[in-house]
Order: sequence, then C-alpha cells, then structure tokens
Amino acid sequence: MPELPEVHTMVEQLRPNLLGRTVTGVRIRDRFLLKNTTPRAYRVGVVGKQITDVRRSGKWILIEHGRSIWTLIQPRMTGGFQIGANRAPRYGRVCWQLDQSPHYVWYTDLRRIGVIMLLTAEQLCSLLAEKHGPDALSVDARSLTRRLRRTTSPIKAALMKQELIAGLGNIYSEEALFRAGIRPDRPANTLDPAEYRRLARAIREVLSQAIAYQGTSFRDYRTAEGRRGQFQELLCVYQRAGQPCRRCGSPIERMKMPGVINRYTHFCPRCQH
Ligand SMILES: [Zn+2]
Repeated sequence: MPELPEVHTMVEQLRPNLLGRTVTGVRIRDRFLLKNTTPRAYRVGVVGKQITDVRRSGKWILIEHGRSIWTLIQPRMTGGFQIGANRAPRYGRVCWQLDQSPHYVWYTDLRRIGVIMLLTAEQLCSLLAEKHGPDALSVDARSLTRRLRRTTSPIKAALMKQELIAGLGNIYSEEALFRAGIRPDRPANTLDPAEYRRLARAIREVLSQAIAYQGTSFRDYRTAEGRRGQFQELLCVYQRAGQPCRRCGSPIERMKMPGVINRYTHFCPRCQH
C-alpha cells in the first residue's frame, strides 16, 4: 500500500499541478527520506528547473526536471501527497515550492519509510530495467506467461515481485487471483495457458476498475486532493476472512505462505483452484 491504482491516482492529480512549473525551493523536514543524495545536492539538482514530465512506473512516481534530472519517489507503506498548503500538513516531510499556483506540493509519510532519489536519465533507465518488469496495468498474457513460467514460488508471491511484473502488492494480487479463479498458493509455473490468459486479463481489469474508484483506502491512503479511494467497497477477498464469498457464499479463508512476510493471503476455497 499504496499500489498501482493509488499511485496512478496520485500522479494524475499531481501532473496538472506540477507540469510547466519551476521549482523555486525545496523544504526538507526529514532528510532520511533522501536515499542517494543530500538536501543540498537535491536542491542544486532541481531548483530553478522547469518540471517537464510527471509519470508512473509500477508503484513509483517519476518527476522530470528540465529534461535531464529525475526525482524518483517510492511511497512504500504510507507515502502520499498534499497539494497547495504553505503550512506543513500532518506528516509533511518534503515540500516543493513552485513559481506558480498551487505554489506548494507536499510529500507526506506517516511511517517515514518512503524513498526519494535524484537520478540522471541514464541512472533512471538502468534502475527501471533492473527493478521493474512490464507494467501491470498493460501486461499481456504472453509476457506474463514468460515471466511466471520461470518461477516456482507461489503465484501470489511471484505477482508481488516488481522485477517480474510492476505495480501489484497484497491487495490487487489477491483480487486478481480471485477474479481469475486461481488459488494464491499454486506454484507460479504450474498454470495452464488458459489460466495465464485469464490472470493477465484479471490483473488489467481489477487495476482499471480500482483506478476508476481512485484506489483503495484501507487505512490511511488519501488522494493528493485529500479524498478517500472507494475501491474497498468492491474488494472480493482482501481482508475478508470469514465473510461470505461474493460469488458462491462460502466463507473467505486466509493462510500464510512463503514469500509473503507478516501477511495473510485471502482466497475463496470454492472459487479458486
Ligand atoms: Zn467463492
């Protein structure tokens, strides 16, 4: 959390507020979020440059400064944004000051385990090649099959490996597997061709639907405009242990599995095989 739909929503709201603006200053209230740079070096990198691109890769936010330098933000567990307040919002960690409205964009992070990096275009390219497989929102059956066939780990754990497919975490991997009718503990290399096809379609569909609802607000996720997502109303299995399956009425079960640390995995014992 946040996963692809939540980050997608953040980027869609940030883009019209950042594009074309020039960064005039950066307030850094928590330097430990900066991973490969210092506050001073970060400011030198971005201040005075116009923002020329705002995009998403997997669960990462990418902001381009002056067609040469990129800010990479990984919200991890509790990262998010707030647009337009001079005064620090709750858990406000970093503030980009802009030459035009909305003047202030804050990165907020309750647990402070998010990451902010400053990268050249080349560094960004090689990092993406190393860490991100195809984007889950547009993944096709062929590339999903090719990647999952190589791994024997449980299918849910494989779907959460960003280098195999980028964008899924606990929520949407479980929801996609339910929609595809596949048990989350099946080894990833044991699906048949029809199952890989169903899974690719289920991933794209559940993510598109979640984007339309501006993501899932389970605990603290808010959009950059301060609203809750609404997809929690449509969840079929995630955190629904003991509740009736929306398709067959059986109680949803939960289990622990290797590769998914400290979390239960939820599934329907009748609908998923
Ligand atoms: Zn069911």
